[in-house]
Amino acid sequence: MDKQSLFVQVANLEERIGELYVELGSLKQKIQELIEENQRLSQENARWKQVAAAEGKAGSHTGEGIDNLYKIYQEGFHICNLKYGSLRTEGECLFCMSFLQK
Ligand SMILES: [Zn+2]
Repeated sequence: MDKQSLFVQVANLEERIGELYVELGSLKQKIQELIEENQRLSQENARWKQVAAAEGKAGSHTGEGIDNLYKIYQEGFHICNLKYGSLRTEGECLFCMSFLQK
């Protein structure tokens, strides 16, 4: 094996390592996104369970049930039929508000 072909092999290897490094970086990025998505979903899931428990306890949307829903709304979650249990990202929600006024 001559010196020149060894240099070529090393250069190729370096290139592949570089590509792998980039791929590793994007995988780490995806893992991070998945972790964040998972956290968000389990947060929403926990909130849903609280909503369900609050409703179960109060029967319909009255008394304690509506208080709990109001608290959940104040914490930044939808309680309206459209986006029930998901995070409010757009500020006040008219559907939630009208729901609370019932
Ligand atoms: Zn809403």
